Amino acid sequence: MSLFDLKGRVALVTGGNGGIGLGMARGLAAAGAAVAVAGRNRPKSEEAAAELAKLGVKTTVIEVDVTSEASCRKAVADTVKTLGRLDILVNNAGINIRKPAHELALEEWKQVIDVNLTSMFVCCQAAYPAMQQAGGGKIINIGSMLSIFGAPFAPAYGASKGGAVQLTKSLATAWAKDNIQVNAVLPGWIDTDLTRAARSEISGLNSMVLMRTPARRWGTLDDMSGIAVFLASKASDFVTGTAIAVDGGYSTQV
Ligand code: NDP
Repeated sequence: MSLFDLKGRVALVTGGNGGIGLGMARGLAAAGAAVAVAGRNRPKSEEAAAELAKLGVKTTVIEVDVTSEASCRKAVADTVKTLGRLDILVNNAGINIRKPAHELALEEWKQVIDVNLTSMFVCCQAAYPAMQQAGGGKIINIGSMLSIFGAPFAPAYGASKGGAVQLTKSLATAWAKDNIQVNAVLPGWIDTDLTRAARSEISGLNSMVLMRTPARRWGTLDDMSGIAVFLASKASDFVTGTAIAVDGGYSTQV
């Protein structure tokens, strides 16, 4: 069996219907994994699932609002019910509310923390028994450059993404005995709906990204596929608790 072969594996990707989640889902499906595409927007999820199915894997669409504990638990249960097991969980759903700290309302703070961080904890907790039953598992949590750097417009987002890395480390140490590897991925600037909105809100963002990124380009969805396959496959069985930047060198250069 190839080190990167995911045939027979089942993945649940939150926010798998677009952006980075879809980029990762494409990698997982290309390596042979069945994929549950989970998001709020059903037509968007159906379109993504249809695209993935063309790679010859089973797919299913799961409607989830990750701010609801019950909805997260149901998403895991429905994945197991429909696709038979759960081996890979990608906690990717995320939002940002761009405001400086002195203007961010408490409700906005809570919303960002709920979507980006609390949902990660709940989905991991919900997935744990199924992964134990499968004899192991792979959890991939999506952080950000704001897991390691600060930005004046993102107090809640930065806190949620810093928390994602620390949660990853806690779960990695707790569940290594169960053969469950938990890692974080820290994307640099990737061209998605989220960053297209940022580009229109923040003047000069596009040229800043191009100048500041050693690769001199925005990341693409396909740039996110390989890391998902690595962290979901046997190739990473002794890799746990790490936070891997996929950023064209952004975090390496002062
Ligand atoms: P997109 O806006 O393209 O995708 C966000 C995804 O999250 C959508 O699929 C959306 O699904 C889902 N989502 C949002 N809220 C909820 C919710 N309450 N319940 C269920 N699903 C939800 O953004 P990106 O692809 O850019 O971002 C994906 C992740 O990557 C996020 O965690 C983001 O913070 C992170 N990231 C992105 C970077 C970038 O440069 N793009 C850089 C660093 C990190 P739906 O449309 O169905 O609601």
